[in-house]
Amino acid sequence: MFSISPVQAMNFDGRSIYIKRDDLLHADFSGNKARKFYHFLHHDYSHVTQLVASGSAQANSLYSLSVLAKLQGWKFDYYVSHINTFLLQHPQGNYAAAIQNGANIIDVSHLADAENLQGMHLDDAMQYIVSSHPNYTDKNQLLFIPEGGRCGYAETGITQLATEIIQWAQDRRLNELMVFLPSGTGTTAAYLNKQIIQQLTQLSLTEVFAIEVLTCSTVGGDKYLRQQFSQLVDEIYFPRIINDGHKYHFGKLSQRCFDMWKTVCQSGIEFELLYDPVGFLVLQHYLNSQAVSATNVLYIHQGGALGNKTMLPRYQRKFPHSV
Ligand SMILES: *Cc1c(COP(=O)(O)O)cnc(C)c1O
Repeated sequence: MFSISPVQAMNFDGRSIYIKRDDLLHADFSGNKARKFYHFLHHDYSHVTQLVASGSAQANSLYSLSVLAKLQGWKFDYYVSHINTFLLQHPQGNYAAAIQNGANIIDVSHLADAENLQGMHLDDAMQYIVSSHPNYTDKNQLLFIPEGGRCGYAETGITQLATEIIQWAQDRRLNELMVFLPSGTGTTAAYLNKQIIQQLTQLSLTEVFAIEVLTCSTVGGDKYLRQQFSQLVDEIYFPRIINDGHKYHFGKLSQRCFDMWKTVCQSGIEFELLYDPVGFLVLQHYLNSQAVSATNVLYIHQGGALGNKTMLPRYQRKFPHSV
């Protein structure tokens, strides 16, 4: 279903880096969510009729899952712990597109048994909902995907991403390569690093190619990210986490992030506003502070530009005078 995503050069902070355009994988099913949900398109799920997932009402994964459900002809229930009033009144971006694809978006606090769920983390609430909801009694027909696609199935599509990167580095004879991508749950970075190590070993190329995966946290700090890794892969496969000394809170708008986003978009490539600004700020800090001048850098564009339809107006309202 997907072809190999292209790589293109981009000027960044006075040097040339490469961008892996996973945002171009597929018109409706792009970025790392396409990689993470690839498994569900390429294995037999004909027994499934109902997809259930959870997360934020503006998440890129909401939209990607709605596309998956539509392609497969599944009903799709998506649980959120909150929808803000503005979005309810003015549906747009991932939220609007998912509804158009038939997603049934359910606010957990409006459920009949909401009282039982109060104060529960959404992950725990989902366990309860999936086990007790009358529509979900036939577990064989039900496919439940954890928030952000943080599960073992994600590795199938990320295996392919690792293969593409190794092949590309081989073709270009880039013996030293730093692969960088910003993390949310850390699923993409963890499986990518694991796959690159394993595939280079299988090909007996570990002596020839030094490909290192680096990432940064955009959610809860480095310690939290390491915890997330530990639920998915052995410690030997943990990607290296770098930071720039700032603590980033997911979805929080800042002038620094907005400025960085505008700078990188001048390349003509549209990046997204949640993960990419933090990614480029941390990458910039790293490249300026280390003796890495000769290193080739491959930044993975993980898609998500549809989310800009809601994020950009929020930024413009908050920083109306910035150019
Ligand atoms: C989901 C997403 C991420 C985070 O991916 P994880 O595998 O959860 O770390 C990063 N960038 C974009 C654009 C995303 O949509």
